[in-house]
Amino acid sequence: MYDVIIIGSGPAGMTAGIYAARREMKTLIIGKELGGQLVWASEIENYPGFDNISAFDLIDKMKEQALKFKVEIENDEVKKIEKTPEGSFILYTNKKSFSAKTVIIAMGLSPRRLAVPGETELSGKGVSYCANCDGPFFRNKKVVVIGGGNSALDAAEVLSKIASQVYLVHRNDKFRAFDVLLKEVKEKENIEIFTNSEIKKINGTEKVDSISLYNVKTKEEKEIEVDGVFIEVGRIASTDLVIDFVDRNEKNQIIVNTKMETKTPGLFVAGDVCEGEFKQITIATGQGTIAALSAYQYLQLKEGKNVVARDY
Ligand code: NAP
Repeated sequence: MYDVIIIGSGPAGMTAGIYAARREMKTLIIGKELGGQLVWASEIENYPGFDNISAFDLIDKMKEQALKFKVEIENDEVKKIEKTPEGSFILYTNKKSFSAKTVIIAMGLSPRRLAVPGETELSGKGVSYCANCDGPFFRNKKVVVIGGGNSALDAAEVLSKIASQVYLVHRNDKFRAFDVLLKEVKEKENIEIFTNSEIKKINGTEKVDSISLYNVKTKEEKEIEVDGVFIEVGRIASTDLVIDFVDRNEKNQIIVNTKMETKTPGLFVAGDVCEGEFKQITIATGQGTIAALSAYQYLQLKEGKNVVARDY
């Protein structure tokens, strides 16, 4: 029986793990991918203490720190959660089950699909959702990035250093990205930006050959030859796993209070999967901290012990 099982091994989950273990809680993190959405990031310049750190280095440091405090980490996916009459939880993966007195959901968000013909068929054959993971396969090739937020611009910037040509396709003419990033992308000689443009189709059989581009203002259609298609059109919350235990907003993000509590006693939430305007690593780590301390406090009270309301 674990004191806490954390679902998700991104910044929120890893921080929750570190804080829980430092409170002497027997802690397990179950995550599909170590680092969570951090694996999609490149250089990080806004995490205090590091003026510039690669996402992979930050993941490594978080993992080392968690292991130092005896957090167990399991690379797996939780498929089902049950609550027992005593108020504890049973978590099922494909092959195993785990018991916990409390659970912290830190599952992050998953990439939104573009939903155009060719996307599913050519996924892994040139269609990608991770510039950092797959970018190196496109050295000196032509790629297109779709989206107009920080993720798309970040991907375009990363790919411009690898690919010979990057096209950035955005469906309108206003970007949602930081000004500094937009300026950087606009200054790159090998990035061409198409605004007010949509991808109608991704063409190819064995691999991506081209995209069919449609300008919504001029109604002009054209085909552009590319080897890679990087889809960066936002992230979605996949929270059906906990549908019976939590309240969700219209985006399926989980609604929490200031202690990261849900309507189910003993079940807490942290990170991007929570309802919230801003999605940042620092916010996720802060929420992970709160969730772990709330889980600790919940157990202390349940077990009739004193609640120490300050951290050490
Ligand atoms: P986002 O900010 O929600 O932007 C998604 C973009 O995709 C928007 O430009 C949107 O277009 C476009 N889009 C959505 N659905 C589309 C569709 N079906 N077809 C074509 N385009 C579509 O998402 P994000 O860029 O993934 O960023 C998510 C969060 O992470 C944000 O809060 C972001 O600031 C943060 N983030 C931060 C950093 C950083 O701090 N360096 C890096 C990456 C991400 P419209 O604009 O027309 O709606």
